[in-house]
Amino acid sequence: MNDPTKIAVVTGANRGLGLETCRQLARLGLRVVLTSRDPAKGQAAAEALQGEGLDVRHQTLDVTRAEDARRLDDYITAEFGRLDVLVNNAGVFLDPYNPPGNSVLDADLDTVRRTLETNLYGTLQITQSLLPLMGGTGRVVNVSSGMGQLSEMNGCCPGYRFSKVGLNALTRILADELRDSRIKINSVCPGWVRTDMGGPGADRSVEQGVDTIVWLATLPDSGPSGGFFRDRQPIPW
Ligand code: NAP
Repeated sequence: MNDPTKIAVVTGANRGLGLETCRQLARLGLRVVLTSRDPAKGQAAAEALQGEGLDVRHQTLDVTRAEDARRLDDYITAEFGRLDVLVNNAGVFLDPYNPPGNSVLDADLDTVRRTLETNLYGTLQITQSLLPLMGGTGRVVNVSSGMGQLSEMNGCCPGYRFSKVGLNALTRILADELRDSRIKINSVCPGWVRTDMGGPGADRSVEQGVDTIVWLATLPDSGPSGGFFRDRQPIPW
């Protein structure tokens, strides 16, 4: 329990930005718990990183399932006794891009609800469960999107946009409530990244996409809290 190695949990980490975040954090010497909703995919991803000589282990976590959150809480408590970093990365983009259905007036409410269930309520649930393990210090990174910026809000994709606006509100609320602690919580836009979600035409690699995520996850005590960042710079809400 006196081991100084920092413990990190990353959600939605069997592929894309979550997987690369695990790799980069482990390369920096953190002990990483790679979580995924599909046990086989998560185990395979963790084994691939172990094959690179990295300290990564897998736990199953569907962020929408309260029993998964409790089981992860029990595992972290028993195994490490504390948590230092939580990267809330798991996310879905369910809105159709093309008509019909991409206008807010046509939006399918079930699609909107399912998006919020994962991107916002799931993230809230995991944060409620794991934050007490931080014991007054720690780093929480909420992987948001420029599509959640009210200052640049355009049409299309209401479910995803609502979810990321809500996630940014969670960042602000929590940062205020925790202002007397040493916990830092920030939102990040990774940019448009070549993952399954971003597609092959996106202009950033996963390595570029996770740079600011990893930076926020490893901020020094003098670092910011309650902000929204892209390319390590503050951006408007
Ligand atoms: P991705 O390749 O589609 O990966 C999404 C990950 O989230 C997958 O591992 C997926 O698991 C997981 N996930 C979905 N629902 C989940 C749930 N209920 N519980 C646990 N895990 C769940 O997407 P990505 O591009 O890496 O995106 C990661 C984050 O970055 C998301 O929050 C996204 O909104 C944000 N983002 C991405 C971009 C971009 O251009 N790529 C831009 C801005 C923001 P399965 O494999 O089981 O589906």
